[in-house]
Order: sequence, then C-alpha cells, then structure tokens
Amino acid sequence: MTEQKISAFLKARTDAFSPAPVIYRKGSVERVGDGVVHVKNLPGRKYGELLEFGSGVYGMALDLTEDGVGAVLLDAEDSVCAGETVKGTGRVAEVPVGDVLLGRVIDPIGRPLDERPLDAVRFYPVERPAPAIMDRRPVDTPLETGILAIDSMIPIGRGQRELIIGDRQTGKTAIAVDAIINQKNTDVICVYCAVGQKSSTVAGVIETLRQAGAMDYSVVVHAGASDSPAIQYLAPFAACSIAEYFAERGRDVLVVYDDLSKHAVAYRTMTLLLLRPPGREAFPGDIFYLHSRLLERAACLSEEKGGGTVTALPIVETMAGNISSYIPTNIISITDGQIYLESELFHAGVRPAVNTGLSVSRVGRSAQSDAMKAVSGTLRIDLSQYREMAVFTRFGSDLDSFTSKLLRRGETLMNLFKQDKSKPYTLFEEVAVLLGYEADAFRDTAMKDLRKTVADYLTAMKQAFPDEASAMNATGAMDADLKARLLQAAEAFREGRTL
Ligand code: ATP
Ligand code: MG
Repeated sequence: MTEQKISAFLKARTDAFSPAPVIYRKGSVERVGDGVVHVKNLPGRKYGELLEFGSGVYGMALDLTEDGVGAVLLDAEDSVCAGETVKGTGRVAEVPVGDVLLGRVIDPIGRPLDERPLDAVRFYPVERPAPAIMDRRPVDTPLETGILAIDSMIPIGRGQRELIIGDRQTGKTAIAVDAIINQKNTDVICVYCAVGQKSSTVAGVIETLRQAGAMDYSVVVHAGASDSPAIQYLAPFAACSIAEYFAERGRDVLVVYDDLSKHAVAYRTMTLLLLRPPGREAFPGDIFYLHSRLLERAACLSEEKGGGTVTALPIVETMAGNISSYIPTNIISITDGQIYLESELFHAGVRPAVNTGLSVSRVGRSAQSDAMKAVSGTLRIDLSQYREMAVFTRFGSDLDSFTSKLLRRGETLMNLFKQDKSKPYTLFEEVAVLLGYEADAFRDTAMKDLRKTVADYLTAMKQAFPDEASAMNATGAMDADLKARLLQAAEAFREGRTL
C-alpha cells in the first residue's frame, strides 16, 4: 500500500470509531483475608484499577485472571465480606496534585491526615511513565543540603538520585530532613514520603519541619506501619507524581523516600498474599523493576517538558552494615551514588556519620557551585591520607614533625565535618570553614574547643564580608581575588588579628 492509501485507511477507521459506552459489570467477593480479596466474575478490568466494595472500601486489582480478579484492599478488611458485590471504577489509583498540597500531610490516595479538608481539583495517576532520554537534560545545578561533608565531598545535583544508606539509627532521616530545611531560601519544593514507619516518628519529623518553617514549601505523604501493604506500596509513587506536577511547571523538587527497604517488605507481603512465587530472600522477581521505575522518574527535564527537576533521595536501611544484600545492591545500582552512614562512626561521635570512602556522587561534581569547587578539590584525599596515617601511627610515640602536622590537620578536618542536625550551613559558611582549614586557621585550637572557635570564626567572617557572603549565597560564584581576601582573613584570625 502506498502512503496515501495507508493514511486514508487509518482516517476512515478513526472517523468510524465511536467509544463504547462504559458498562460497569459487577462481581462478587469470593474470599477475603489478610487484606487480599478474590473476586469472581469481573471481566475487563485494568491492571491497577480501583475496585469499589459495597461498604465504600477501595481495593486495587493486581491479579487479572480469566475467571476473576485478585485485589489488595487499601483500607481495613473488617467491612468486606464474602458474597458482597464489587464494582470496577475504570480509574487507576490517583493522587491530588498542585499548590493546595503545600504544607499538608496526606495519605497516598490523597486523603488528608491533618484534620483539615483538602479541596483538590487536579489528580495525577500514581504510576506514570518516566521521562524519555530526549526529554531530559544534563544535571547542572547544585542542590545544597547545608551539610558540609555532603556538599563538599558528595555533592548532589538537581535531578539526581542519591541514596542514603546505613543501619538503623545512624541519622539517615536527619540528613534528608536537613536537606529539606536547607531549601528554605531557595525555590525548591520538597516532598517527604514516609513508608512503613511509626506514626510517632513521622509526627516528630513533621514537627521539626514545622518549627524550621519548612512545611510552607513541603508536602508529606504518609503510609504508616499499621496501614495496609497496598497503601504502603503506593506511597512513593504518589509522592513522585506530586513532585512531577511541580517539575512539569518548571519548578525544582526534592523528594525523599523514607525508606525503600520497608517499601520492599510491604511489596513482598502484598505479592506473597497474592500467591505469587517468591524469589531471592522471598522478594518477588519484579522488585528491581518496582524500584527502578520509581527512581527513573527522577529527572532533569528539558525546556520543552517544563524544565523542572525531580531530585530523589531514597533511603535504605541495612542490617549490620551489609550493603551487599539484595535490596541495597538493587537500589545502589539504580541510583547515581550513595551516602553511606556507619554505626561505628555515629557512636564515636562523628555526626553526620558519613563514611567518605564508600560514599560517592557520580553526577553532582559537575553541578557543584564554582565557590565550592574552588575549595573542595583535595578533601577526600586529605581525609583518606589521615585515616591511613592514623592507623599506622596508633602505637608510635615519637613522630616526625611532618607526620604530626598531617595528623593534626586531618583530625581538625574530621572535626570540622561534625555538624549538629537541623543546623545547615549557608554556602558562604561552608566555603569559609574550608578556607579556614586551608589556611590552618584552627592550628592552635584544642579539639574540644574547636566547635566554639569555628562559630566565632564564622561570625567574624560574616561581619567582615557581609556583601560578599550574600552575593556568594545567591550566585554560588567566587573569583580568585575574593578567595585570596578570604584566605588572608582566615590567616588573620589564626594570628588573632582583626579580619
Ligand atoms: P531509623 O533507622 O530509626 O529510621 P535513622 O537512621 O533515620 O533511624 P535518625 O532518626 O535520623 O536516624 O537519627 C537517629 C538519632 O540520632 C536521632 O535521635 C537524632 O536526633 C540523632 N542524630 C542524627 N543526626 C545527628 C547529628 N548530626 N547530630 C546529633 N544527633 C544526631
Ligand atoms: Mg529514619
């Protein structure tokens, strides 16, 4: 057939097409238990479609067979009983999107959890395709977390996926929350998605965000440990859809999934109850696909697609530091780098407990601001040299002056990276601290006094360079002349002169 014939044929077919009227067929509940329902006689269902039960409870169709549907319930199963009628709604799970969500706490299907009504007008399906290659552009803008160790050595770019991984109670949530708090004076919108956590822990996080004034530009999506596995499974996808709405309108969005190991467990529970065969560590075979299709949705969109970005910070909990088990290795391979937190460091008082040897950011370096690039080049090498030397000299008594100088500088650097939670640095403060290290401004300070000396030093620097500080925070730039002046000031501080 020639081209004209094909298009004439297609046109005739499309003109003749009239959509069939939607007929809601009804099925009935065959059996129900453990949050899973088997339904008889409900043909023509879509994968992921919402089913409505007589009592107003919703379920999601996940197993489509010839003679029925296997569905998971989104609410408690108490009100669903065998024999009850079931109706297909024709809709897949959706979540409200838009500015109305800012400052709100919702569940993954958009029901408000903060006791205020939600007037949502726009909805997005929770599962959406990831942007294609041509719809993306390279990551080129930093997303500053305000945490010195991260911004200087493991920088994150807008549109990147950076995993936060570590054992329980190593400060994983604290890093993500600090990153959200640090977006206060930027135009970044934040979405915090809590999966399978205690409601009291999440209430604590929301309170921290509220006190820091971060709820004004944030949305919290919460699916707690006591919620059904299906709701927990939907939570990160819903959070991502909320983020995508803003990104498609040119906004930069940071989304935190806290945490994906609990998400994997919820998905495993759901699929085992649906009688799907288990694979490695009893996780279903498609668990990799589950997380990859979630994390692929983080992107730096091209101008034609809105030009916004979705930066993802997934969190994964490890057992006894084992980063090579199934879920951690999966997610490490999907993300653009990881921030690895260690219990040992955490208990030794190194907080944030970042293991700089095992942490990496594969994209962020190119997105780092010029000012930070100019001062952070050799930090990782300095630190690893110090660690190596410290192990060798642990039992040695008389050290030559070069070695003892190197050890002292390394120890200072490690202590400079210690930072309280909810106390993010501005870019100028970060640069000033690192220039202080470069100029050896804390040479004569005892380690126990370091924190106070650094605070005094930063106050003095900000007083001496107020305009330069605000310019650097706004543009991220630092020319050679300014660097030289700041270094001079740091030296003056060391000598006890006025800056
Ligand atoms: P979980 O595994 O329970 O989710 P987590 O790894 O998310 O824990 P957090 O809840 O962030 O860890 O932190 C654990 C504890 O450590 C909290 O009490 C928190 O206040 C404290 N903490 C975290 N970061 C710091 C820090 N930089 N300085 C001081 N304390 C911190
Ligand atoms: Mg946590």
